[in-house]
Amino acid sequence: MPNQTVKQFVPQSEQMALMPEISGNEVNGLGETDFRRPSYVYWGNDPDDTAHCEVQKWFYTVDPGLEEFSKLRAAQQKILDAPLRPVAPNQQPLHAAEVAKDTADFIKYGIFEKYGAVAFNPDWAFEGVDIKYENIIILGFQHTYDEIEKAPQPEAGVEVMRQYKRAAYGAKFIANWLHDQGWEAEPLTGPMSGKITMIPAALQAGFGELGKHGSIITPEFGSSFRLSAILTDAPLPLYEPATHGVDDFCTNCRICETACPTDAIFAEKQMVRGVEKWYVDFDKCLPFFNEHQGCAICIAVCPWSRPGIGINLAEKLMKRAQRLAAQNP
Ligand code: SF4
Ligand code: SF4
Repeated sequence: MPNQTVKQFVPQSEQMALMPEISGNEVNGLGETDFRRPSYVYWGNDPDDTAHCEVQKWFYTVDPGLEEFSKLRAAQQKILDAPLRPVAPNQQPLHAAEVAKDTADFIKYGIFEKYGAVAFNPDWAFEGVDIKYENIIILGFQHTYDEIEKAPQPEAGVEVMRQYKRAAYGAKFIANWLHDQGWEAEPLTGPMSGKITMIPAALQAGFGELGKHGSIITPEFGSSFRLSAILTDAPLPLYEPATHGVDDFCTNCRICETACPTDAIFAEKQMVRGVEKWYVDFDKCLPFFNEHQGCAICIAVCPWSRPGIGINLAEKLMKRAQRLAAQNP
């Protein structure tokens, strides 16, 4: 089981002195009933553009005591800096069966663990960002559970970095794969916010459902994974959203709420920019997150994240839903 943490967390005063006057929840649009596109709240591409820029810079001053962090960051940067191959002059058709075979092979070779593609919705772009591409591919990269369950110890943060490095490589790999077939493609990778919010695109691409802890839950690996994305005009086979009973399950489960050291996870869905959804209180989460290399307790404790649990749980919930539907036609 993941490490238990004390509830009496007192953030360092030097960090709190850097907090801006504006609440991150306000920037996020908590309580706003009209739809608007998301604003940068954290991991801004240019940290100086966000209200929380000084706190974001402070994050990097916390010494986790593990050399691997800086090595992984440097390795990831090398991947990000590598140029893409040129777009081949002739566009090849992308037959569904071939795309399915290639992406299944990439999963088999360990490039990524999950793949989906959907039409790009401009609502997913941050305010002020225009996206010219029609489609988006989403990739999933599973954490090693034995490492993520150590959250909030720094080893869990190292595992997150490891997956961000793989995510950077996977997005570039797919962009090159498309370029070789004559299609323009732009890889997008965290942890910086980039141009779009990936979670709504991943939900649309069938990755799963949003959990109470604000992360996606997918039956194969719960919420123990990272995302990257590729924007493209390539005419790819598109995926559909998928439900597995997660939303109902979260309504009755309180594990992440209870485990969160700062009580940042709302028990009820919140209205955020015109959409009612599970939401994490940014202002409560951030200080602990910053002092613990990204925390990840809520991901680690979620029962769906435990290896071998999610698929069986989704099947059970599906059967239960079918039983109930049969009893109440
Ligand atoms: S711990 Fe429980 S409530 Fe929290 S996200 Fe996971 S299933 Fe949902
Ligand atoms: S990441 Fe944030 S919301 Fe999740 S357990 Fe840690 S402090 Fe709580």
